[in-house]
Amino acid sequence: MPELPEVETMVRGVRPYMEGRLLKRLRRYPCRRKPLSFTPDFPQIARTLKGRIVREITRTAKRIVIQFIAPGSEAEALYQYLVIEPRMTGLLLVDDPPSREHLRFEFEFTDEEEDESRPNVSYWDRRGLGTVTLYSQQEFDAFLKSGRLGPDALAISKEELYEKLQRTARPIKVALLDQKLVAGIGNLYASEILFLCQVHPETPANRIPRRLIKRLHLAIREVLETAILYEGSTLGDGTYRNVLNQDGSYQNEHRVYQKEGALCTRCRCQKIERIVQAQRSTFFCSNCQKKY
Ligand SMILES: [Zn+2]
Repeated sequence: MPELPEVETMVRGVRPYMEGRLLKRLRRYPCRRKPLSFTPDFPQIARTLKGRIVREITRTAKRIVIQFIAPGSEAEALYQYLVIEPRMTGLLLVDDPPSREHLRFEFEFTDEEEDESRPNVSYWDRRGLGTVTLYSQQEFDAFLKSGRLGPDALAISKEELYEKLQRTARPIKVALLDQKLVAGIGNLYASEILFLCQVHPETPANRIPRRLIKRLHLAIREVLETAILYEGSTLGDGTYRNVLNQDGSYQNEHRVYQKEGALCTRCRCQKIERIVQAQRSTFFCSNCQKKY
């Protein structure tokens, strides 16, 4: 957490407050908690981005990508990319934060005559595990080509998914969390996806019959896209918030995640079970989800 739907929700939420605006300064808040990881260091990032314009804000896997251009120049060679990975507890906000003490930095934009009321965008991180990296165009291209991230979970084709799963005998639940295989799925949504397509989480990835790959591929899209519509999942700890500091609502749609002992909503005769795979909890129905 946050996974693809939560990061996509953040990106969509801050887009109207960022795109086309000129950065007056990147302001760091004094924070006595674990410091974020900045590459290069914060002063250098702030110096580089000052006076630049946000051209576009997008998402790649579980990362936020903010593209900056120099005013008056569309030259690609001058693009800069600020990539934020919120990891466990990072949030982008345009409203008051859940707590002042965990505010980390703020994008302070110049006031515009036509609409001076547009708020700035801040980054909040309770545990401080988030990372912030500035890339030049060349460095960003190299990062994308490095293979550290596989195809995005909302963009991967059925064929690509099949080929990648053929190459590993790891349990399908564990394989879906491998960001090099498919990027964006985390622990929560992996359980929900496998419940929806009725595949047992311990099935070796390369044993899933070809005809079921279509169902798995559809389930990935359906779960992630629906979760985006519901603005992500805010769990019991209340950490994840949308950009207006409000709860997401997909947690009300969870069928298996953290439902251990509850009656399965599909078969209504078996209780949801929990197992541990690669040190992470997996939730499933042993009656509905078939092992191959
Ligand atoms: Zn069931």
